[in-house]
Amino acid sequence: MDLRHSLAGRTLRLAVLRISMVVVCASVVSYVLNRSLIEEAVRAQLLLSTEKTIQRESLPFREIRELQQNFLAEFRAIDRDPLQRQALVRSFDDIFYRHDDGSYTQRPGLFEGQPLADGRRFANMSATYAPDIAPSDDVKARFVLSYLLSHKYGSTTQGRLFNFYGVVPEKGFPIYQAADIAKVFHYRGPEALKLETYEFYSRGFASGQSETFLTRMYFDSSNNAWMTTMGTPDTVEAGGQHRILACVDILLDDLMERLARPSIEGAYSTLFLADTEGTLMFHPQQMEAIQQSEGKASIESLHLGMYRPLLHTGGQLEPGKVVLVDTPDEIVAVGRIPETPTILTIHYPRALMQPAILQNLAVVATLGLVTLLVEVFLLRSILQNQVTRPLQRLMRATREVGATAELGKYDLPVQSGDEIGELSRDFTRMSERIYEAHERLESTVQQRTLALEEANQKLAALSMTDSLTGLANRRHFDEALHAEWQHATRSGSYVILAMLDVDWFKKYNDHYGHQGGDKCLRRVAHSIQAHAHRAGDVVARYGGEEFVLIITNTPPEEAQALVQSMCQAVRALQLPHPLSPFGIVTVSIGMAATIPRPNDQPSDLLQQADAALYQAKAAGRNQVVQAG
Ligand code: GH3
Ligand code: MG
Ligand code: MG
Repeated sequence: MDLRHSLAGRTLRLAVLRISMVVVCASVVSYVLNRSLIEEAVRAQLLLSTEKTIQRESLPFREIRELQQNFLAEFRAIDRDPLQRQALVRSFDDIFYRHDDGSYTQRPGLFEGQPLADGRRFANMSATYAPDIAPSDDVKARFVLSYLLSHKYGSTTQGRLFNFYGVVPEKGFPIYQAADIAKVFHYRGPEALKLETYEFYSRGFASGQSETFLTRMYFDSSNNAWMTTMGTPDTVEAGGQHRILACVDILLDDLMERLARPSIEGAYSTLFLADTEGTLMFHPQQMEAIQQSEGKASIESLHLGMYRPLLHTGGQLEPGKVVLVDTPDEIVAVGRIPETPTILTIHYPRALMQPAILQNLAVVATLGLVTLLVEVFLLRSILQNQVTRPLQRLMRATREVGATAELGKYDLPVQSGDEIGELSRDFTRMSERIYEAHERLESTVQQRTLALEEANQKLAALSMTDSLTGLANRRHFDEALHAEWQHATRSGSYVILAMLDVDWFKKYNDHYGHQGGDKCLRRVAHSIQAHAHRAGDVVARYGGEEFVLIITNTPPEEAQALVQSMCQAVRALQLPHPLSPFGIVTVSIGMAATIPRPNDQPSDLLQQADAALYQAKAAGRNQVVQAG
């Protein structure tokens, strides 16, 4: 049977449809759940990692700020002590050397570590003092003090910070240098000492503020490195003038290297200042623009529109805080690095979540598919073994119902406990009953057919007419003779019988065949019938080719003439009979007449007629003989 229309096919298709729907629903639910779970995890990780990063990156800045505050406190304490200030003024001429144009640099050899007369050494230190104003004792004291403390603080952090310097607003500029640029620094006149062109100087002394600040990052060509300067001015006194500014140059290479590789795989970072422009310090795709603009490139100048909301958000954040900003393509963590005016953003492209989500989806879909295949396979084999095959056997058996009592060859599952088993048992019982009924019917039909044939025979016997010739039959004749006999006995009238036999009829049959014989018999019968015209005359077929005639109400002489005319009439038919000596069909007739007496029997008269017929035969046939 076609699988598409079979019970098993329909059930399987339904199972496939149902499981497919479950798999699709499960996949959708898993996709939605996974997406939100994965996104939640990503957000938490992003928040945590950014918080850790900004805390970690703030540590060097905090250390520097504390160092600078300690520097300023120590500076202030000594600066207030007149005795120490006098000693500092005296040291000025020991340390510095006056050029012809009125400017100062430190004495040669100090950078290399040559000691002063009193044994003090200032390795890695250098200093310049601008010639704009001739140094007063106050300026000299602060310049020397700054020189001493810059050496002290700079050398304690050697190797970790770059330059440490305390600048006096009168352009005294002593500096502890991590690199030995002083060795290559040759004084070439006051142009080189224009500190007001440097951002740290102009910002540090711009106003009465004492907040720590960071300069824009700049490229230091002598060190071949990107740097920023962190500066903390001292607190101004009544006059509103600063006396000192502590500065540290910070190498940004390490910071940028760390930022370029955020701890979350696939994410990237940017770093910019929380100023109005959003001056960029680090951006993985904009490093060339940043370097070409010498650190002036910003979110505004580069038209980085999508960063404006991040700058806006970051600008309002408290240091150390992190918030998440959602953009269509990214989840961005925005944090403010404590101790600095910088904003760190870590960008997580949403596309990175896709593989994990799809992987989960693939697992669910694969599981679903495997379930589907297993179920379909199991269902198919169950249906095949327990439904389709038993049903097919039942169907084959159904076609044979009634034809055989033996259903064994169809191997019906009659032992099975399920519905098909029950159906098979019922079917077997039904089939047996049908077979029995069929058998009974067959034998009944046979019996009935026999009975019917018998009845037909009886019916034919009961009939009054001879079927071949249409004349009265023997039975009719017997009854009519009996009735006529009674009547004649009562009335004392004649009963005349004539027995008529076709001559040489066996030979006629031999020549023309039995059917030809029948036809001849019908012609002869018709001919003699035509002569029995009186009421009460009966012409009957007595048997074979013999006929008998009862003539009533007729005197014997008249009857003789009638019978003679019958014999003549048959001859007149001129039916050819080559095997007869006459050449045609003829008849012999024996006649007998009597007025019956009460004890007489009709059979006596019949016997006389038969005897007369015998005589007619013996006398040559084709004639009438009247009994004695
Ligand atoms: P006979 O002149 O001595 O009467 O000779 P026959 O041959 O006529 O007499 P016989 O008794 O020897 O043969 C009678 C034949 O009539 C035998 C039989 O085959 C035939 N016969 C009897 N009834 C029928 C019938 O209904 N139809 C046909 N065609 N032939 C019949
Ligand atoms: Mg005969
Ligand atoms: Mg005959």
